[in-house]
Amino acid sequence: MRVIRACKEMGISTAAVFSEADREALHVSFAEESYCIGGPQPRDSYLNAKSVISTALACKAEAIHPGYGFLSENAEFASLCAEYGIAFIGPDADTIGKMGDKEAARRSMRDAGVPVIPGCDMVGNFEQAKEQAEKIGFPLLIKARSGGGGRGIRLVMDNRELEYAFRTASSEAQSAFGDGAVYMEKYLRPVKHVEAQILADSFGDVVFLGERDCSVQRKNQKLIEESPCSILPEKTRRKMAEVSIKAARAVGYKNAGTIEYLLDKDGNFYFMEMNTRLQVEHPVTEMVTGIDLVKWQIRTAAGLPLGFAQEDIKPAGCAIECRINAEDPYNNFRPSGGRVETLHVPGGPWVRFDTAIYQGYSIPPFYDSMIGKLIVYAKTRDEAIRKIRSALCELAIEGIVNNIDFQTDILSEDAFINGAYTTDLIENTKLVHP
Ligand code: ADP
Ligand code: ADP
Ligand code: MG
Repeated sequence: MRVIRACKEMGISTAAVFSEADREALHVSFAEESYCIGGPQPRDSYLNAKSVISTALACKAEAIHPGYGFLSENAEFASLCAEYGIAFIGPDADTIGKMGDKEAARRSMRDAGVPVIPGCDMVGNFEQAKEQAEKIGFPLLIKARSGGGGRGIRLVMDNRELEYAFRTASSEAQSAFGDGAVYMEKYLRPVKHVEAQILADSFGDVVFLGERDCSVQRKNQKLIEESPCSILPEKTRRKMAEVSIKAARAVGYKNAGTIEYLLDKDGNFYFMEMNTRLQVEHPVTEMVTGIDLVKWQIRTAAGLPLGFAQEDIKPAGCAIECRINAEDPYNNFRPSGGRVETLHVPGGPWVRFDTAIYQGYSIPPFYDSMIGKLIVYAKTRDEAIRKIRSALCELAIEGIVNNIDFQTDILSEDAFINGAYTTDLIENTKLVHP
């Protein structure tokens, strides 16, 4: 929906692909043309590169926007697009490959002079894991080289847990990502997750569009994001801008991308990973910069230069996003399906609700539980917090269990309000009631 909207404003025709489970999905009727590409299981449709490409060829598409998730960070898909003369809206296959391997990305960033989280390169067997763990120290994290979406990460508290954790982490990574390779990192805490949005054209120009604080997480998955990071000193922000632009240049980055860092209480930040695509939380950056990221993704992929320089970007105010998920916070976040009986969307100035649900829509059980994103903007952070709480209160989704009340509870926590919260906010507060 987000991409189709940008295209409509730009006068670009759109064709959507959908799975058999998504016949009633909003993007299917919103796009000018739409094509069913296979069964409900992602591997039969949205992950089926051949179906997507052959559909694009059949309808004479000039470009493919891969969205987020699915094939958006798949280097093979990007190179197939190139092979068939279709522009892939994102960086080139080579860059995706370099950054998609999280362990190789650590090495190339280290070589480029970017501070990375203390840890080690790939560990091939348990003996190596034991040896490296001694050096890193506990607690540590075992991470899947091909992991993503908060999955493929395992916390190891001490030596005794290492062997079991190592073996299960590799076998789980093998079945979840088709790649059992893992590496290890020191478990840093308390930390903030702060990420840098960058945008690059094909002429070597790279700009930094500010940072986002995505520290409100549950099981390593983001729930609330805001821009700017309210406690980041201006000096650190400038350094983050400089390092991020250097990192992007080092890999010849093109299009929109995000560099994720962990920020410790002393103000040091360390490279964690780079996401070579549009991110779920991109709207908060759009709100504070006034830059439409999807339009610039399309323009840069079409070979146009960035229409502005770093000094033209003057982020102002504060934007906050809450992810609205069809899940039950009071029952171990169990995903919930069902029919949307009532939908009332909040309004008012600087309130944005990005969603693909509508009244009467039945949520298919096959995909991610995120059903919408509520985003607000205000001049000050206090005002933005009041605005999003008020908007959450107005948002009504009936018929399916959702996390609206839970999000409201988080926004009332002192640690959130004062901005000092870290990634352990949810586990530290007794937010989840039986
Ligand atoms: P980020 O928030 O940093 O972009 P995430 O990993 O949280 O990173 O977001 C990407 C996730 O969005 C994917 O892991 C996937 O679960 C989910 N996703 C993928 N495709 C879609 C889609 N079409 N609509 C909504 N969510 C999607
Ligand atoms: P994914 O590819 O699934 O997004 P990331 O490597 O970005 O995985 O990590 C997801 C989240 O896990 C981070 O946002 C952070 O909260 C937590 N995390 C990752 N690495 C570390 C670390 N070394 N120390 C502490 N927390 C970490
Ligand atoms: Mg990440």
